[in-house]
Amino acid sequence: MNRGAIAEVNLSAIAHNFRAVRKIVKNRQIIAVVKADAYGHGAVKVSKKFIKEGASCLAVAFIDEAVKLRDAGITAPIIVLFDRKEVREFFDFKLIPVIYTIDGALSLSTEAKKRNTVLQIHVKVDTGMGRIGLSSNSLIDDLEKIAKMDGVEITGLLSHFSDADLTDKSFAALQLERFNKIREAVSKNLNRKIFSHIANSAAVLTFKEAYLDAVRPGIMLYGYSPLCENSNPSQSPRILPVTLMPAMKIKTKLLCIRNVSSGSPVSYGRSFITRRQSRIGVIPVGYADGYNRLFSNNAEVLIRGRRVPVVGRVCMDLTMIDVTDIRNVREDDEVIMLGQQGKESITACELAYRSHTIPYEILTSLGSRSRKIYRY
Ligand SMILES: *Cc1c(COP(=O)(O)O)cnc(C)c1O
Repeated sequence: MNRGAIAEVNLSAIAHNFRAVRKIVKNRQIIAVVKADAYGHGAVKVSKKFIKEGASCLAVAFIDEAVKLRDAGITAPIIVLFDRKEVREFFDFKLIPVIYTIDGALSLSTEAKKRNTVLQIHVKVDTGMGRIGLSSNSLIDDLEKIAKMDGVEITGLLSHFSDADLTDKSFAALQLERFNKIREAVSKNLNRKIFSHIANSAAVLTFKEAYLDAVRPGIMLYGYSPLCENSNPSQSPRILPVTLMPAMKIKTKLLCIRNVSSGSPVSYGRSFITRRQSRIGVIPVGYADGYNRLFSNNAEVLIRGRRVPVVGRVCMDLTMIDVTDIRNVREDDEVIMLGQQGKESITACELAYRSHTIPYEILTSLGSRSRKIYRY
């Protein structure tokens, strides 16, 4: 038996979500964000799907992610959002760096001159995210300096919103206003309109003034709205302009079923003690596989189309569930930890709520540590 769960990724759902974005943003370019192995869904397969559906470009976080896509035969433009260390790879693999320091631009310029070539770059400006990006009063000067460098050509300008769920749009509006001012200044300076992008999923869903030339969604392409951040599943979710289809299912099979008498403790710390003659199922997935320890006595899984509770502490490689109420339960039965089975479903939003995080972390932690299979 291999360790961990199986992540079943539904590529039709991926395509459906891409089309949902297309429907909202009409003819704008779509830059599909596939960082962190496509949010745990497997970047190669998912990227190929996005390109087939018409994505103009892919965005990854680091060079190695981009190289993996190139090695898989993907020739579409790839933006590298954060990496700046391996200068040569940008040229060797025809990648688009996001520049956010003068130094970064300089070293690319030097390498370009050595190679007697010109590299297209996108420049990132910090409009309030406080992470990376040119900032401060010298921003316009810095942009001008980069524009004058030989061997690099600014073909894009970007920024990023700090309120990823945009429940309150006032700060995002301020960021957009700053960004628009910078765009104007840059366009004037370059004597051409600069290709600009700032919209993440939340902006795609709720902030059409931010669409600009291209949008840069991530989470919604995988079937989740960023708006369910911290959402209590008992509250009704905000109405979306489109339906999204979660693309990832995390599943496993029971390792064994044990019959235990009332009063039996389960797992480390004996935090759960049976109150009846019980049947406790053991599943071969634990926190080392991305199933958070905060799910101890605090999550449900699906078996035979019904919800059953996680009981006791989640261990490194094992988790216990109470299957007493499931008639005819067998050791071969499939157990769904994330996703749908019959009429029931466990969403990444539900798991995020239970473990005080966001669906992004649920998808990346479970997805990245599971064996992936694809449904078409
Ligand atoms: C992750 C990321 C995105 C996508 O954000 P979502 O909220 O997943 O849509 C867009 N732009 C940048 C710079 C990012 O880091």
